[in-house]
Amino acid sequence: MARRGGNEFAVLLQGCDAQAALEFTQRIARAFEVPLAFDDQTIDLSAGMGVACWPADADNADLLLSRSEIAMYTAKRKLSGALLYDAAFDSASGQMLSLLTEMRRAVEHNELRLFLQPKVSLPGGEVLAAEALVRWQHPQRGLVPPMEFIPFAEQTGFVRQLTLWMFEAATRLIAGLPEPLAGLRISINLSTRDLLDPELSTRLGTLLQRHGVRPERFCLEITESAIMDDPQRAETMLNRLSEQGFKLSIDDFGTGYSSLAYLKRLPVDELKIDKSFVMGMEKDEDDAKIVRSTIDLAHNLGLSVVAEGVESAAIMERLGQLQCDEAQGYHISRPLPAEAFLTWCTQQTAATATAA
Ligand code: C2E
Ligand code: MG
Ligand code: MG
Repeated sequence: MARRGGNEFAVLLQGCDAQAALEFTQRIARAFEVPLAFDDQTIDLSAGMGVACWPADADNADLLLSRSEIAMYTAKRKLSGALLYDAAFDSASGQMLSLLTEMRRAVEHNELRLFLQPKVSLPGGEVLAAEALVRWQHPQRGLVPPMEFIPFAEQTGFVRQLTLWMFEAATRLIAGLPEPLAGLRISINLSTRDLLDPELSTRLGTLLQRHGVRPERFCLEITESAIMDDPQRAETMLNRLSEQGFKLSIDDFGTGYSSLAYLKRLPVDELKIDKSFVMGMEKDEDDAKIVRSTIDLAHNLGLSVVAEGVESAAIMERLGQLQCDEAQGYHISRPLPAEAFLTWCTQQTAATATAA
């Protein structure tokens, strides 16, 4: 038995055939059916398993491992517990594996980039915070936007490493902020995989302590669908993170399937109205009504409300009239590399001070 990294383990079975190997995986699957007791909580576990056989599937150790990994990813994708390697899995999974290898290399070779997009107060335009958005400076493909690799990173669980990378980069930035920006808060996007990782709050706590930065300096953005994937486990983790001092925000609000009851119960501080409604509010009366109602709902629940996707001065003004608390969007600034962001903030702070 060997740990291949993260949550991946390999088992070498000698002197048995495919059938016996599959029976072995069933024993492992049965062991996972017993929930794990952890800090007074019971945690449901599951595992995706892949089997490859020597010499039928591969004639050397590297290929054997790689083909069992392909079978494992296919099993995860199909939620089928365990699968025996089949050459038909190869093309789609081969691409997945090479992307996974490339992403691991991206972290090792420092190809990920922290971009920041400012969030400003309404109506004053003071820079209060920024959202951290990842980019991948790929050696051949150039600057790759998150939507081209985040969904895959979520599927494979790699997103947990990516989240830690973002936290590390944002924490360093906060620790080195110049005095006029010393109060700036950074929002970080979390995925379902992060939220369901029972060690998330401990990992983040250790990381921040190492840099001497307090959790209050961060806001964690979570989508409704990430919460709804497993509401009970999500609620447990959100409570823990909130007690630790992190601010919590519901991202893309209005696009997911969710119940309003959870909003009342969860320790949420902020709602972010999805950009589709904000961008449409000038031309579409229904979008405008959704924006207005969301602002009222947030305020009635004692939450602060942010509009994302603010692309024009007219929309920014309208949001101010509707008492929206903060705005984020291309009209204010596009997401910028960390250094350019700091320059932008310094200029903006000087401009708002002059205007006042
Ligand atoms: P999101 O968290 O909802 O982030 C806001 C997205 O809207 C960003 O896209 C931002 O560039 C874009 N945006 C901001 N203002 C405007 C505007 O005025 N007009 C338009 N059309 N778009 C605007 P981006 O950077 O491409 O990120 C897309 C999504 O990828 C994010 O949506 C988030 O779900 C995910 N993502 C980005 N970085 C990370 C990360 O570090 N971790 C995780 N888990 N997800 C991330
Ligand atoms: Mg976000
Ligand atoms: Mg959003």
